Amino acid sequence: MRRTKRRDTGPELRLRSALHRRGVRFLVDTAPRGGNRRRRVDILIRGPRIAVFVDGCFWHSCPEHAHLPRSNRGWWRRKLEGVVRRDRDADAELTAAGWLVVRVWEHEDPEAAADRIEQLVRGRRRGSRSRVPAEEGTAGLRPEAAKGRTRGNGGSKCGKTQWQC
Ligand SMILES: [Zn+2]
Repeated sequence: MRRTKRRDTGPELRLRSALHRRGVRFLVDTAPRGGNRRRRVDILIRGPRIAVFVDGCFWHSCPEHAHLPRSNRGWWRRKLEGVVRRDRDADAELTAAGWLVVRVWEHEDPEAAADRIEQLVRGRRRGSRSRVPAEEGTAGLRPEAAKGRTRGNGGSKCGKTQWQC
């Protein structure tokens, strides 16, 4: 659980196969064209412009499972806060470029997450391409945000962790 993020983790594979079964096609570990090349997206659904990240609970400080290791707490705190800050930067950057950012915790049920993403894909395909992406903000897949609620923060950059927004 404490290893750094790498490709093809179990939760990500389970979500990918759940999406594939639903007919959703995507690119894996890809940087969106025109964006920061170093900012890779776990699951990139190009047509409807949806960027999905599967976040590990430890590294990305999931509200249910986040914890600080007992030794070097100060170092870990800064380190983990840096990860969350980069996540929010990536969200803002992708949103500004017209992507809908979806974040899934590794502890989430992949079938439920895939259902939600499938709905978003259909909604975005139906919707006009000219729609202002900032209206959508970050569609969190957190359980508390999974009721189709939009955040409507006007695309303003939020430096806080997502569950505080
Ligand atoms: Zn968790």
